[in-house]
Amino acid sequence: MKFNFITLFPELIQGYFSGSILQKAIENGKLEIAFLNPRDFTTDRHNRVDLPQIGGGAGMVMMAEPLLDTITSLKSSHTIALSPAGKSFKQIDAIRLSKLENITLISGRYEGFDERVTESVDEVFSIGDYILTGGELPALILCDAIARNIDGVLGSVESLQGESFENYLLEAPSFAKPTDGVPSEYLNGNHARIEALKMEMSKRKTQLFRPDLYKKYKSVRINYNNRNKV
Ligand code: SAM
Repeated sequence: MKFNFITLFPELIQGYFSGSILQKAIENGKLEIAFLNPRDFTTDRHNRVDLPQIGGGAGMVMMAEPLLDTITSLKSSHTIALSPAGKSFKQIDAIRLSKLENITLISGRYEGFDERVTESVDEVFSIGDYILTGGELPALILCDAIARNIDGVLGSVESLQGESFENYLLEAPSFAKPTDGVPSEYLNGNHARIEALKMEMSKRKTQLFRPDLYKKYKSVRINYNNRNKV
């Protein structure tokens, strides 16, 4: 899979790909990354990428033209803008997007994009209800979360199984071995019993730390059971 990062500050992103699982994925040909700077798509001699807002207001807005020209220079790519106004990025999106071949992540700066940019992309994502200075961290977060779901990026496929957010539950508590205080049933070698115990702990942990998620888990179960009764 190829990720194109559209950003005014590629150097903020590049470092993350050295010395990590993602670097290995690049070396193994599972992942490719490219950077495009909207400044290279400007037509004026000052390479302007931002202008004051129409109607006043503090700060500059990223101009539509250089960004749209950067986006259209990419022939076929699923385009994603990062914005606090986007839908909330979830694990289910990371899994869905990991099946694509080519994704473009567009980072804003200053007071954000001219609205025509957000209207022209395939999806808009937010990483949470707070404001960052730029879209580079959000772009990296999406890239990391998507990339680890691509076949062959993680050492073992099992690492992806039973992870938090699958079926609206958090992963069961893990314990490094050897250690004291591990529930003794984890050590008794009865795999069916260990699975049942992990499921129970997973539910309790979700109930305690993420009651909102647990509520979803319960309602999905109720709907599923009701559907099967009909
Ligand atoms: N004025 C904008 C607003 O109030 O919605 C915020 C602009 S922010 C300072 C600059 C850029 O950072 C945005 O265009 C976006 O790309 C990125 N950004 C900031 N917070 C973000 C978030 N929570 N999720 C995704 N992107 C974010």
